[in-house]
Amino acid sequence: MSMKPDAKVVLEVKDLKTYFKTDAGVVKAVDGVSFSVREGETIGIVGESGSGKSVTNLSVMRLIPSPPGKIVGGEVLFEGKDILKLTEKQMRSYRGNKISMIFQDPMTSLNPFLKISTQMIETIQLHEKDVSKQEALERSIEMLKLVGIPSAEKRIQSYPHQFSGGMRQRVMIAMALSCNAEVLVADEPTTALDVTIQAQILELIQKLSAQMGTAVILITHDLGVVAGMCDQVCVMYAGRIVEKASTDELYARPSHPYTEGLIKSVPRMDTSKKGDRLFSIEGQPPNVIDLPPCCPFHPRCNRAMDVCRSVYPPVKNIGNGHEVACWLHVEEQERAQALANDKQEEKA
Ligand code: SF4
Repeated sequence: MSMKPDAKVVLEVKDLKTYFKTDAGVVKAVDGVSFSVREGETIGIVGESGSGKSVTNLSVMRLIPSPPGKIVGGEVLFEGKDILKLTEKQMRSYRGNKISMIFQDPMTSLNPFLKISTQMIETIQLHEKDVSKQEALERSIEMLKLVGIPSAEKRIQSYPHQFSGGMRQRVMIAMALSCNAEVLVADEPTTALDVTIQAQILELIQKLSAQMGTAVILITHDLGVVAGMCDQVCVMYAGRIVEKASTDELYARPSHPYTEGLIKSVPRMDTSKKGDRLFSIEGQPPNVIDLPPCCPFHPRCNRAMDVCRSVYPPVKNIGNGHEVACWLHVEEQERAQALANDKQEEKA
């Protein structure tokens, strides 16, 4: 995978914070997340469940249920404009039009009682008022052909349940792209599908992104998926990005112990032998309610130091645009100073 440094930045997320108020305390589901994605580029957001990856993207779509959730800080710049400042009405013209989302289960977005033709035509006409019904139908058929639905002219008159899981996901992708969206957010788009279909759908997203210049944000718990299709990767843990790099760089030089664990837990076709046990990261993801200001990975990390248990590590650029938030990449002097400052604050 190669970065596309000359392509235009389509979406930039800056210091995004989304919190949830619960009876037990405040959940900082997303706490200072920043990344950007360029035209035709695919960025993977990876982490275990509860890491904040889906909340990040629901925040980008402005689909956080409020209450209990609230975007409390940051910016989401779409072509330079902060969409967090738009009214809900203005946002509706972005959602599905400029930024589209495909979910793990297409049935959550498809209406089981309406034919695919009706749903696709409605989607196009909702966003482009001057498109006639006939034009919208023709475009829908084109999109279904593009995503590999055989006999698209006939199948478009079917209901969602008349398609297999993989075909339904293709229909969703066709719908998401039928409005020429510039950003496609795909939240675990293949988790419910079998391995062969998974590969086909991911390949399809990648092909369409290259063909149409669509920027893709792919949310997944599976670093194996990222390796095959993303240009960049953000690894999330407990609401923050702990490591960010190009995919090649991340695989060549994983620098956060959590990323190392994730990479080790991906099954390898080349070196794994039959009967090998798959590596898994010991311990549980942290409870994110009222997290203390330390490295939240420390109870699972075999390289944790005193400073890790007291202060959150700063983000360091370790070269090649590779960023990591881990005390292992901080000079000893700076670590000692952070620990001393923390002790001082405790005393005060
Ligand atoms: Fe491990 Fe410390 Fe790095 Fe956290 S900051 S991942 S505890 S070494």
